[in-house]
Amino acid sequence: MRVLVLTGAGVSAESGIPTFRGKDGYWRNLDPTKLATPEAFARDPKLVWEWYRERRQRIRNARPNAAHEAIARLAHQTDEFLLVTQNVDDLHARAGVAAEKMVQIHGDIFVTRCSRCEFERHEYEHPPSPRLRWTSEQEQEQEHEGVVPKCPDCDALVRPGVVWFGEQLSRNELERVEDFLDGGACDIVIVAGTTATFGYIIDWALRGNRDGAELIEVNPEETPLSRFATRLVREPAAIALPRIVSQIIRR
Ligand SMILES: [Zn+2]
Repeated sequence: MRVLVLTGAGVSAESGIPTFRGKDGYWRNLDPTKLATPEAFARDPKLVWEWYRERRQRIRNARPNAAHEAIARLAHQTDEFLLVTQNVDDLHARAGVAAEKMVQIHGDIFVTRCSRCEFERHEYEHPPSPRLRWTSEQEQEQEHEGVVPKCPDCDALVRPGVVWFGEQLSRNELERVEDFLDGGACDIVIVAGTTATFGYIIDWALRGNRDGAELIEVNPEETPLSRFATRLVREPAAIALPRIVSQIIRR
């Protein structure tokens, strides 16, 4: 069985990670869609870093929910599987989806990368090597001081490894999605917890669905994708996905 799953903020909202849309996403009365931009970082990198550090901490304290766990179960039980998530948190990974079965199309909030050169590092909570421990501790120290961190290689400002509004998607990650879609038609496409506002999400869902696959949309509200879905589930992902995945695995 070949399965494509596309997820968005709605999946992590039930773990207490606020979405960008609506009042819940506001931080200090600031609109996240205006903070998550190259312009905001150029204007006030300290403010943008403070926001990302708070978000990192909130994610560290959060736990994967039943939706993340159901998707991980599906990843284990299917021969060919790809999860494309718009979420920059690590909850899919912590639920057990292997890195090679997942594309974080909007980046990874726990990556810190240089705004100028190729330098990047992972800010693991439990670093796997002494060197990484050092960078993580260094970051925590800088958090307390409110310093904007700089690149150890070229001294430019470093930034979170996420895709901001107005930026290009990573070519590498795009290629991984394209390779999967080129590799054959899907039997099942699941789109969960996303308002499908980005055209490429709709495009991938429809391409995965090209030979008449089942296209399941899990979202409490109607989205631009709803009219293409073969099955609409108007429930939160943490309620609906465990049931849907059990049905698929039993087939
Ligand atoms: Zn650099």
